[in-house]
Amino acid sequence: METYSSVKEFFKQYGLILGVGVSVLLVITILTIAISHKTPPTVEREQDFVPVSSPIITFSEPVSEITLLKDYSNSALQYNTTLKLWQAHKAIDFSAAEGTEVYAVMDGKVVEVTYNYLLGHIVKLDVGGGMVVVYASLSKDIPVSTGDQVKKGRVIGYVGNTAKSEASDGPHLHLEVWLDDENVDPNLYLDLAQK
Ligand SMILES: [Zn+2]
Repeated sequence: METYSSVKEFFKQYGLILGVGVSVLLVITILTIAISHKTPPTVEREQDFVPVSSPIITFSEPVSEITLLKDYSNSALQYNTTLKLWQAHKAIDFSAAEGTEVYAVMDGKVVEVTYNYLLGHIVKLDVGGGMVVVYASLSKDIPVSTGDQVKKGRVIGYVGNTAKSEASDGPHLHLEVWLDDENVDPNLYLDLAQK
């Protein structure tokens, strides 16, 4: 009996506090369950990988003294004084004295040494990644052969005036860049500003 009355006494004293405490605990429990049953945090969807910028390929200079003769034009017509007609010039021409050394702009493999009436003596250098650098209007004396692995800066030819389609421009290097069999602007890979 005494126990009962002390329990009663206890509740009389602390009933309100207990009630509030239990209510608070109940609310917390309900909230916790509600939150944990909400949709799970969305996992960041994997995006297609988009590189911030493509790796930059920078060629070393193809001739030691850069003198721009004719710039690249994909569609803009330039007057060809030899053929006496307007045409796009999908290459860069560098003026240089006959016999000037022409260098590999990157490590690569000589994939073709050839002659073509319009572009003269030609060396094609595969520099990897689907890119081929074409050196034309070279002199007849070619110091490399098909299949040669060459290091950047290696002499792969000499400036000539063998491109019949550009003969009146005088001795020069006609440089083309091909990427996956598409002609591209060599300016993308040459840093001529610092020359
Ligand atoms: Zn040219």
